Amino acid sequence: MAQGVLKQGIAPGRLEPDQYKSNFADLHPPLDRHEAYVEADRCYFCYDAPCMNACPTAIDIPLFIREIATGNPMGAAETIFEQNISGGMCARVCPTEQLCEEACVREEAEGKPVKIGQLQRYATDIAMFHGAQFFERAAPSGKTIAVVGAGPAGLAAAHRLAVKGHDVVMFDARPKSGGLNEYGIASYKSTDGFAQREVDYVTAIGGISIENDKALGRDFSLEDLQAKYSAVFLGMGTGGVNALRAENEDASGVSNAVDFIAELRRATDLANRPWAAASSLSAAA
Ligand code: SF4
Repeated sequence: MAQGVLKQGIAPGRLEPDQYKSNFADLHPPLDRHEAYVEADRCYFCYDAPCMNACPTAIDIPLFIREIATGNPMGAAETIFEQNISGGMCARVCPTEQLCEEACVREEAEGKPVKIGQLQRYATDIAMFHGAQFFERAAPSGKTIAVVGAGPAGLAAAHRLAVKGHDVVMFDARPKSGGLNEYGIASYKSTDGFAQREVDYVTAIGGISIENDKALGRDFSLEDLQAKYSAVFLGMGTGGVNALRAENEDASGVSNAVDFIAELRRATDLANRPWAAASSLSAAA
């Protein structure tokens, strides 16, 4: 893009190297131990906790916060993972301000909720860093289940199936596993390859293999899977985006937000992408 001022009044340019670094750094750096204790102490451990009722995965929030407050982050992680094996990623990407934290009584009373998402990340990070596994596989069932899609739904299904003693073969159309977590989450929400680390953590239970670059409808059919496996779980996700129906939305250089984020996440040199003019990058970040 030529230097100068566009007719909309936006001046294109390039960010400084440090700005790239800070724009793509962890949006909410993790709590340290002291910060986690202080934050956990703010919880009232409410009866019939509204935060828990607002959590789509119904994690026992007051219980895991109490476990953190009493110096038991591993116990807290177990409480979280029992309900949601993707608790580490959810701690990073959940819109907590519209869910558990919006419902927190501290938000109601003071406009300052307990930092539930940050506490969840604190506990799950410790467990994942130590490779702590809280589940044991049941005796082999002799069944092998096909799971299509190695994104959040597929991984959660595969993990639960593995716990119950089944073997699982996952198929994913893309070269890397993780689905939306790997390709569709803004970089500053999930840094340092966390999506892949979560895939590794989930599959570490054993009995789960993943075949990448294998797409349903292209490399195999549903009938193929039904003939070969005891059951099939379809977890391809909802990767489609709504058409804006704006004029020229299919013009060259225009892409939807999910594809844009996917390209950003794959970029090895952010400064030399064709769309890396400061104006557009700042707007996206
Ligand atoms: S609503 Fe807030 S104070 Fe009450 S249990 Fe949940 S996090 Fe703790």
